Parts: sequence; C-alpha cells; structure tokens
Amino acid sequence: MQYHFHAPIITFHDTSLSDLAQLTVPVALVVIPSEQKAAWLQSDAGHDLALADSLGRPLERQVGAQWQQLVFLPEQPVKGTKLYQSIRDAAALVANLPCSELALHLEGFTPAAATLLSELLLQALLSARIPLPSSKHGSEPRPVFTTIHCSPAVTLSLPALLGEVEGNGLARHLAAMPASELGASQYRQRVRELAAKEGWHCHEWDQRELALRGAGAFLAVARGAEDDGAAIVHLRYAPANAGSKVALVGKGICHDSGGYNLKINGGMYGMHLDMGGSAVALGTLLAISRAGLPIEVDCWLAIAENHIGPRAFRPSEVVTAANGKTIEVVDTDAEGRMVLADTLVLAAEQAPDLLIDYATLTGACKRALGSRYSGLFCNRPEWLAELVEIGQHSGERVWPFPLDEDYDDTLKSDWADLLQCAPGASCDHIDAARFLSHFVPATLPWLHIDLSGFRHKGGHGVVSSEITGFGVRLTLALLAQSRFIANRAV
Ligand SMILES: [Zn+2]
Repeated sequence: MQYHFHAPIITFHDTSLSDLAQLTVPVALVVIPSEQKAAWLQSDAGHDLALADSLGRPLERQVGAQWQQLVFLPEQPVKGTKLYQSIRDAAALVANLPCSELALHLEGFTPAAATLLSELLLQALLSARIPLPSSKHGSEPRPVFTTIHCSPAVTLSLPALLGEVEGNGLARHLAAMPASELGASQYRQRVRELAAKEGWHCHEWDQRELALRGAGAFLAVARGAEDDGAAIVHLRYAPANAGSKVALVGKGICHDSGGYNLKINGGMYGMHLDMGGSAVALGTLLAISRAGLPIEVDCWLAIAENHIGPRAFRPSEVVTAANGKTIEVVDTDAEGRMVLADTLVLAAEQAPDLLIDYATLTGACKRALGSRYSGLFCNRPEWLAELVEIGQHSGERVWPFPLDEDYDDTLKSDWADLLQCAPGASCDHIDAARFLSHFVPATLPWLHIDLSGFRHKGGHGVVSSEITGFGVRLTLALLAQSRFIANRAV
C-alpha cells in the first residue's frame, strides 16, 4: 500500500472544437457555457444530444475515433460550493473510464473563465484517479493518466497544481490506511522514508527525548501502547529563498480506542482516521515543497495510539506539559488535546510567523457543523471574516467559533493549572480550543482547525472521495495571501 502519484504530461494547445477529434486521444471532456446550452441542443450538432438531455442522460457523442463527453458550466464561474459540485460531477463522467489519455476542451469561454475551469477540472480529474489503499481482491485500480491535452492554451502553474493534488492524495491515502497497516511505528517509518526522498530535515522526538523535555501530556497518551512507537516527528522544508516561516501541527492518533474511557456503541469504528490532522499537515508540506514555494515550513506530527493497558493513563491523574503547566486528566478519550499541547509548545519554540494545527478533535464540532464545514478558531479575531471567505473560495469551508478567555471558567481544576476538559456536557470544541491556547504564546498568530469535514460523503472542493484530506487546499489558499504570514511584528 505504497503511495505513488504519477503526474501526467499536461500540454496546452489552441485547438478548435472541430479539430479536437483530429487528436489521437480516445476520450475528450468538452466544456461549454451553460448559457449556450439551449442553442447548442437546438443546433444540428446537438440533435441527438437534445434527446439524451430530455431523458436526463449524459450528453455524449462519437466524433470519428473520439468519444466526447459534453458538460455545461457557467460562463462566468465563481468559486463556491455550487461550482465545486459541478466540477466534481463533470470530472466523474470521465475519471472512471479506463483510458490513460484524455483531452480537456473548453469552448466559448473568456480566457479568465477558461483558466479557472481548466485548473479546477484538472485538479478534480487527477484527484479522482488517485486510488485509495484497498485490500479487496479483484479491484483493479484504474490506469493513471499519462497525458492530458488541454485547449485552449491557458497559463497555469503546473508545479503548484500537481503539488496540491499529490499532497491531498497523500493525506487521503494515509488516512485510509487501516489501523493494522499504519500503527505509530509504521507511520513513522513512512514519514522517515518520505523525508529522505524529499530532502526534508527529519527529527523524531522519541519518548526518551520527550521525557527529558518534560512533555508529560503527550507521554500520558503514549503510555497505553504496547510498544514505544509514539513520537513527535518534526520535518523541515527550508528553501534558500524563504521569506517567512509557517508551522503546521497535526494530530496523529493512529487508532483511538478512547483509552480507559473506552469508546462504546460502535464509536470506535473508523478511528483509524484519527490521524487525519497529521496527514493534512504532511500533505500540505508535500504540496508546498513540490510547488517550491518560498516559505519555510516546520511540520510537527503528534503520532501515537490511544490504547488501554496496565500503564495507560487514567482520569484524575495530574500530568505536567512541556511548558510546565499541570493538567488534571478528566477523560482519556480527549487524548488529542493532550498530544497537541506538547507538540504546540515545541512548534512555538521555533518562532514561526504563523502556527496552524489540524485535528479530528471533537464530536462537539461535528454536532455543531456536520461534515460540510470544519471548525475554525483563531487568536486574531480580525482575520476570521477573510478566512471564512478563503474557505468558501477553496471549497474547504470553515466556520468560526469563539476563543474568549472567559470560557476558561469550565477548565478550572481544584488540583492543577487546567482541567483537560469540562466534565459532563459542554461546548467541547470551544473548551478544546481554549485548552490548546494555553500552549500557544499569545504573540504568535495561531489557527486551530477542528476537522469535522475530514470525512464527508460526496467530498469537498475538487476532491470527490469521502475521505477528503480537508485542509491541504484551504491552507495553500490562505498561504497565498501574504498578509497571514507577514505579521512577525504584530
Ligand atoms: Zn479520543
């Protein structure tokens, strides 16, 4: 179950629709403005199509040796949920066909619209072709695309486009790996190999080193596992031309049993996805590195398993985190904030310009938002409106929640500096964010993303699989706005 992304050769030509079938490409996706649909169906060329359309069938035709799939998209496309749904639907019409060569032709769009649609369709097509790991017999993976011919000739940054597809694909691949194949040690092995291949600096803070550093919150969770696989893995991509530095932190619980607060009533099923946040951090690093963006990235993966065993941590223990704060444990199933606490402390010590953490953290966030959005917390409230808008445009939507200090009232402990979480019913997604804020200096701009959207039937943005890799695309979109990473002196 190795992850290999095969980037196709993508070429751009100013081919006309009438010349399209002259290309020796068996399948073409032909995109026409929706506003021209009626006229198109009434024309001679559209005669058979009008019948198919009235029957609600895909609009397809054979031209010479070429099979053409027609789709209609808005003449003036605006990035948003509706457009992304149309893009995923359009890509699905051809992504599942067993062809390795494809033509993508846009007819009758302005250069700006053609550029936007080409970019989104290419991303959706390539993402849909990335096979997720499967142990099922007889499931033949579809061939990879070797060549895609695009017309008209638009200008796209292919390294950035392909980097995003590859990074998101990595995040989805790792998340889909079953717990039996991706335990903490196996995950670390993969990360080590990837770092060597990509030329990233890699340091694994193992449990001995973390004990010396006083990372008692992380180690409390690590204790339950039968091996010493848990570690905080630090990766660094440092291009010579870097203008700013970003830290990406991810929760990497390879399997979450809940610990002594054991998950019941089927709640443990699917808990191999609890490392999704770390997969997003790693996938984002890969995307940035492949695109060669001039940003230094410190990526921190909090890799552990939350198990029961003779040494596993228990409610009512008091542990001390790496910044000296003492924590009274309330619920061992709130392990994510424990491993993140120490990881955030280590990440903040490297003085990044911006710190982002990703975690499949709370059921409360999912109850509040469903899986169409992920929860957003930010210690720069004046950024929230713009971040929400970036989410809408990227197709990975985030919605803000408060991070006011007075929420700390529910985290007051009789015996320690902090309660790990509020006993009983509470707005746990906000409590969790407040808890984490005690491990991030107020001077450091920080975003916390509670990944309620990590798993969503139908997908998000340009990605159609249920495991979405939510966060890679959003982060790339927000890092493209330099104001979020040029605030060193805030
Ligand atoms: Zn848990």
